[in-house]
Amino acid sequence: MQIVDLRATTVTVPLQAPLRHANGCHWGRFVRTLVEVETDSGLVGLGEMGGGGESSEATFRGLKSYLVGRDPRRLEELRFLISNPTASLYNNRMQILAAIEFACLDVMGQAWGVPVSEILGGRLRDSVPFAAYLFFRYPHSRDGSGEVRTAEQLVEHAQRLKAQCGFTTHKLKGGVFPPDYELECYRALAAAFPDDRLRFDPNSVWSVEEALRFGRSIEHLNNDYLEDPVFGLNGMRRVRGKIRTPLATNTVITNFEQLAANVLDLAVDVTLLDTTFWGGIRPCVKAAALCEAFQLGVSVHSSGELGIQLATMLHLGAVLPNLTFAADAHYHHLTDDIIEGGKLHYEAGAIRVPTAPGLGVKLNRDKVAEYSELYKRLGSYAYDQDPLRPGWTPTIPNTRWADPADARIPKIAH
Ligand SMILES: [Mg+2]
Repeated sequence: MQIVDLRATTVTVPLQAPLRHANGCHWGRFVRTLVEVETDSGLVGLGEMGGGGESSEATFRGLKSYLVGRDPRRLEELRFLISNPTASLYNNRMQILAAIEFACLDVMGQAWGVPVSEILGGRLRDSVPFAAYLFFRYPHSRDGSGEVRTAEQLVEHAQRLKAQCGFTTHKLKGGVFPPDYELECYRALAAAFPDDRLRFDPNSVWSVEEALRFGRSIEHLNNDYLEDPVFGLNGMRRVRGKIRTPLATNTVITNFEQLAANVLDLAVDVTLLDTTFWGGIRPCVKAAALCEAFQLGVSVHSSGELGIQLATMLHLGAVLPNLTFAADAHYHHLTDDIIEGGKLHYEAGAIRVPTAPGLGVKLNRDKVAEYSELYKRLGSYAYDQDPLRPGWTPTIPNTRWADPADARIPKIAH
């Protein structure tokens, strides 16, 4: 089997409301690049990558000379072809490699008549549990709906999500407001869901001292872990030695070098595996095996997926023996998806692992056309800027927080 063509299409899909985070905001939508790898057998595999636009599409076009004529089943060869570690000093293509790896696995599964999970070792579970990923949200520009700013709004939002999707783990994305304000919000969540699990993630934005203060204040709650309270393995190590809650990261362990450094001098308890950041599903499986050997925790990270990447997270989650935490997904904030059949459904806080050959999802061409047109109209957005805080630079550590009393509605094109 040979690759004969490679196509990339940028889409933007609306969110229920803009999602606020420590570095800025998702301005009411996600921008994603959909990748199609076509083979001489007529099979087409699907991949997905964050961001998009002309430069992203041109990058994939530029890889045709690398890929056309190659066998999509030779995934280890593909790793060195696209992302040789020394050549990567000049051209970091890790996320591009990931999108192509997804597509090649999708092709292989279709060719062999098996779901990707079976190529990866076989399902240990038929569905993957997810956490309610809770964000502070700006009101929607159109009608002011969807705001999450106060503790009351947060609890109400979480209760609605639990009723809709069945979540029993609640993750709060912080790092937006002053830490004491976010602590009150987190405590309100804990009080509202005394039997559920909790986790908090301020996106590395605190100082070590702030992290210790916050970390000690939540030790009595049902925490899975405290995620990336500070930046860097050394910062995490300083915090870890002084609080009793486990630490997790999707930031400072995103490759095997960093994973090895963490094993040699422990700084983090739980590594959140992102199929994009790690360069594919298979590197995540390998990393999880290393963590299993050293009795370190793993979970599945979300970097703002549509249905294709969600499928990669489901196949990953299905095959990890040491997956003891609910996975993260932004997915429930989306208003729509680009796959056939529409958005995948949550049942009792979990999503079923696709069982059709390959990734088990297909593009809905009408939806791709609709959201590709929307991208052409709206373009990209500045993930690392806040629509209502012009001139603010998100430093690490940060001390200039958003004002929790500010109830303005951002004017965002949609
Ligand atoms: Mg995180």
